[in-house]
Amino acid sequence: MTSVDSSKHKKAKALKPGSRRPAKELCSECGLCDTYYIHYVKEACAFINQQIETLEQQTHSRSRNLEKPDELYFGVHQDMMAARKKEPVPGAQWTGIVSTIAIEMLNRGIVEGVVCVQNTKEDRFGPMPVIARTPEEVLAAKVNKPTLSPNLSILEQVEKSGLKRLLVIGVGCQIQALRAVEKQLGLEKLYVLGTPCVDNVSREGLQKFLETTSKSPDTVVHYEFMQDFRVHFKHEDGSIEKVPFFGLKTNKLKDVFAPSCMSCFDYVNSLADLVVGYMGAPFGWQWIVVRNDQGQQMLDLVNEQLETQPVMSKGDRKAAVQQSIPAYDKGVTLPMWAAQLMGVFIEKIGPKGLEYARFSIDSHFTRNYLYVKRNHPEKLEAHIPQFAKCIVEQYQLPES
Ligand code: FAD
Ligand code: SF4
Repeated sequence: MTSVDSSKHKKAKALKPGSRRPAKELCSECGLCDTYYIHYVKEACAFINQQIETLEQQTHSRSRNLEKPDELYFGVHQDMMAARKKEPVPGAQWTGIVSTIAIEMLNRGIVEGVVCVQNTKEDRFGPMPVIARTPEEVLAAKVNKPTLSPNLSILEQVEKSGLKRLLVIGVGCQIQALRAVEKQLGLEKLYVLGTPCVDNVSREGLQKFLETTSKSPDTVVHYEFMQDFRVHFKHEDGSIEKVPFFGLKTNKLKDVFAPSCMSCFDYVNSLADLVVGYMGAPFGWQWIVVRNDQGQQMLDLVNEQLETQPVMSKGDRKAAVQQSIPAYDKGVTLPMWAAQLMGVFIEKIGPKGLEYARFSIDSHFTRNYLYVKRNHPEKLEAHIPQFAKCIVEQYQLPES
């Protein structure tokens, strides 16, 4: 965004909670419209003005090279690895690399505050974005809130509080809007620590997902779609319940995922400096993508606390992705015994490491391409980035 009077946005008015957002049903509740930065929504909103390639250029000084297979899939990067904390943070989503980096940045005075999301008092999954100023406040934000979270709703507070050096932790749609308004925030330095994100849900959608899929929805403390092709639910008593992907009640869950997530193509958080996920790493490890020098500086802060190994890739995802397209469309659900068996089989011979990440990207991009084509055909051309079109073109999709 260029040549905008930086005080202009302060005259704009945030939208009232619950009122219809400019992106309408595609709104991911990223929080921008809860602030006076709504002034920039037409350019900044990831669902109104997809501009990943331009913002890659702005952030990393170049957009991804579509000729390089790893960049096509995982975005601009200078390094990738698998890592885990030698001493995991208890109660973190994985081993707590995200929380640890944020704490180090605060402790060393590199930033004065961290935008992250705690949960509300009443609801362990109710998102409550905050500016954390102490390690304790960062730790209180550990673990995924697997719901749409208005992380950018506190941007007004950032500007008012006079913070100059800030770390923002967030998912792709939040980070796209953040990058678009970055220059208006009055910061001296912005660091962005991203996680991949897919299949997010509204709070009501989450309830439906838990009730349809888990045996004990009220005791779930966290869950993840794992590389062993099962959803792992962790319960209050520490027990783990595993449900194979192939046993999910797809027909009932079809409408659960938020329309924003059904039309998102930034699974890998292309605009963060550093991305910490799991899907490109062996089971039990986290997957790190260093996008630029600033991301490397952030990772260096915790190097001594990590075990690392190179990324690996095994198997061939293509046939499984092609088969998943009509299966999802028809809402096929296998009986549980068959789903368990299929899970064991796929785990043995299925894609691993980066190939698993490609499997997940391909299956979500093909599904989302069809969703946009069917529900928002007028957006198809501009909303889908070129890299996603290249990925989808590898598969045969139904005509309509
Ligand atoms: P922790 O130290 O536990 O910290 C988690 C951080 O996430 C906290 O700082 C918190 O502020 C932030 N956070 C929590 N909920 C949200 C939210 N709703 N929006 C924005 N920020 C949030 N990784 C993959 O590789 N593949 C996936 O398919 C994938 N899907 C994800 C879906 C969702 C909805 C989310 C939030 C994350 C997803 N991730 C995925 C990332 C992964 O689950 C872990 O969050 C990541 O590996 C960091 O783990 P950690 O133990 O280091 O994090
Ligand atoms: Fe506003 Fe964010 Fe919703 Fe777009 S996704 S309409 S920027 S709140």
